[in-house]
Amino acid sequence: MPPDRAGTAEHLLQSHQRAKVFVGIGIPLLAVFGTLAITNREWSLLLLIAASILTISGSYFALLRGITRIPTVWPALVAYTLLLLYLVAFSGHEHGRALWFLSLPVVAIMMLAPRHGATWTGISIAVAVAIMLFGAPWLGTSAYSPGFVLRFAITCALISVGVYWSEVSLRRYRDETEAQKAATLAESARLKAEIARRIALEQDLRVLASTDALTGLVNRRAFMERFSHELARSQRHGPSPTLLILDIDHFKKINDRYGHPAGDAVLAHLAQLLRASLRNVDIVGRIGGEEFAVVLVETNAAMAAPVIDRLLERIRETTVTLADGMPLQFTASIGSTEILWGDTIDTAIQRADEALYTAKNSGRNRHCQR
Ligand code: GH3
Ligand code: MG
Ligand code: MG
Repeated sequence: MPPDRAGTAEHLLQSHQRAKVFVGIGIPLLAVFGTLAITNREWSLLLLIAASILTISGSYFALLRGITRIPTVWPALVAYTLLLLYLVAFSGHEHGRALWFLSLPVVAIMMLAPRHGATWTGISIAVAVAIMLFGAPWLGTSAYSPGFVLRFAITCALISVGVYWSEVSLRRYRDETEAQKAATLAESARLKAEIARRIALEQDLRVLASTDALTGLVNRRAFMERFSHELARSQRHGPSPTLLILDIDHFKKINDRYGHPAGDAVLAHLAQLLRASLRNVDIVGRIGGEEFAVVLVETNAAMAAPVIDRLLERIRETTVTLADGMPLQFTASIGSTEILWGDTIDTAIQRADEALYTAKNSGRNRHCQR
């Protein structure tokens, strides 16, 4: 809808409330005047009053039904203006009836868009003044003194300007309020989006802070945290888990012989192998350079032993393909310990470390348990 039309439709919707007031006051008044016109046998006046009542009622019901696209208010306004001009033309005792014309600026400016209402009022005042000045000699209408016409015109103009000014101020105030409301809504939407962005960022940071970049496993700090939870949980509800510490054999030689990137490839490969070989519930982390730790959840030492043997077997058999296509094999040693009643993460790690030390000293590529 073009802005002009939109403005008019919106205005008509608002005029619905005002129409209620005008109809509530106007229709009974018109009915009284209609009765007087019948009593006086003034048929032209009766006709104009009837036309006004009909068009005003029509416009009002159209507004009630939300018909705002067509110029709903115009027919009523035209009929009412003709009635008022008739009263100016035949103004009765002391021109009393002509004074009803002063209601036109209020009705026209408040029911139409202010600019349209003011234009219509201006034209109507000009016609009324013309009737006052020239009607008597040419049409036989009521005769007015120039002083009365001047006071009449000035009063009409003052009322018009007053109503127009208050309408324009009201609209400006309403537009500003609407703009402020829209700005507040936009700002609140922006804030919501910003909060969502920060929550996502915080989540990413939390993941980054607990993840080892090279292998994608949890890092030492996060491993200890999870191990500590599992330790507390198992000591409350059982059964015990088993802790493994795994260290690649002669890793320094791999680095020295094939280069640091080859060492990195071995670390990433082993991490994948660990994840693929163990259950999702088991905790797997990289806790040092070429040192990994695993918590086999709800798995005592006897249950853990075959799992560890299978793991070492898979490590022996696996092949890392280096960047130049060269295959590389490696072995690892594992020290393990079942978590005992009263263990802390430190005592458990110390025992697993001792077991690892034994495995290394007994020739590597094996598993020792404590
Ligand atoms: P052992 O069999 O007794 O465990 O001998 P090792 O050579 O594996 O053990 P050592 O502690 O002597 O050497 C570990 C090496 O791991 C030394 C270090 O340069 C290397 N290293 C540590 N972190 C990384 C890493 O992120 N990438 C690579 N490529 N090497 C690493
Ligand atoms: Mg080591
Ligand atoms: Mg090593």
